[in-house]
Amino acid sequence: MKVTEHIKNANGKTLFSFEILPPKKGEDLQNIFSNIDPLMEFKPPFIDVTYHREEYEYRELPNGSIQKIITRKRPGTVGICAAIQQKYKVDAVPHLICGGFNKEETENILIDFNFLGIDNILVLRGDPIKSEGFFKPHPQGHSYANELVSQVGHMNSGKYLHEEYAHGATNFCIGIAGYPEKHFESPNLDTDLGYLKQKINAGGNYIVTQLFFDNKKYFDFVKKCRELGITVPIIPGIKPISIKKHLTILPNVFHIDMPQELVKAVENCKDNKAVYEVGIEWTINQCKELMKQGVPVLHFYSMGRSENIRRIATELF
Ligand code: FAD
Repeated sequence: MKVTEHIKNANGKTLFSFEILPPKKGEDLQNIFSNIDPLMEFKPPFIDVTYHREEYEYRELPNGSIQKIITRKRPGTVGICAAIQQKYKVDAVPHLICGGFNKEETENILIDFNFLGIDNILVLRGDPIKSEGFFKPHPQGHSYANELVSQVGHMNSGKYLHEEYAHGATNFCIGIAGYPEKHFESPNLDTDLGYLKQKINAGGNYIVTQLFFDNKKYFDFVKKCRELGITVPIIPGIKPISIKKHLTILPNVFHIDMPQELVKAVENCKDNKAVYEVGIEWTINQCKELMKQGVPVLHFYSMGRSENIRRIATELF
């Protein structure tokens, strides 16, 4: 079922969902299931699975020369989505990125998703390759997420890259990313929102936000979206802080601010066990306020760990 239908059927009740990462190449899928299992009691109608692009590695060979290796460290998104749908009977939402793919490869992945009975896709541009400073599109691929949204939208109307198939139309529900504190490459929030609107106009059906710790940022973002005529559901992305280092890692990776009250509380912790508890308490309060305002879903970034999310969800659902 489509994410938008799950939201509609919930009749204003806030739903619980979460995102997982595929395991690193060679690791067991069982680790993923062990983290999903404790969260199933909160009845997530959908689970997101991230997509990870290739990385470059430089390895020294015995003769002293250096070899450049192109490797995907977390493959398996398509297979994990199929496994989740089969094992848990919930909708898996694969992420689909522009980076590293030409349009033909993208079309073929979409055909696989369709055959697997996947109804939803979160469409993204993807980040730059780690060793590159800025995003370089594939020469035969897409530069921005709105172009990828259009490609999925075309397939939803039966228009493939080279042919039209009236009976081959897919019916994907398309999620897109939004940034309450603006995307880091954007000169300002208004410009970023203009491009967000472009993604909606191209066929985006719902928005999932970047993680944030200050609800005001989310509420202001939703208000601005509504003023621009964006009417689709806007799902807040939530991440509990769990170690002291998150004070620097999260702003660095996700380009977000942290409220001073949270920073102080974490700084005053004597160890990471205490930080873990502060993170849980902060998130519970944050989520309670979001639920009070009627957010459609609380979407947790689990990043492969579920114990704190289980404790938070126990308080909320
Ligand atoms: P876009 O919407 O294309 O925007 C990128 C930048 O370009 C923005 O600054 C925007 O303002 C600007 N822009 C957009 N359109 C245009 C245009 N037509 N002309 C000029 N400028 C434009 N990354 C992964 O690699 N894998 C994942 O699984 C993944 N999951 C994510 C899930 C969520 C909920 C979020 C919020 C992010 C996720 N990311 C993931 C990270 C994401 O790929 C990066 O944030 C990426 O840098 C931007 O992606 P986007 O889809 O928002 O890009």
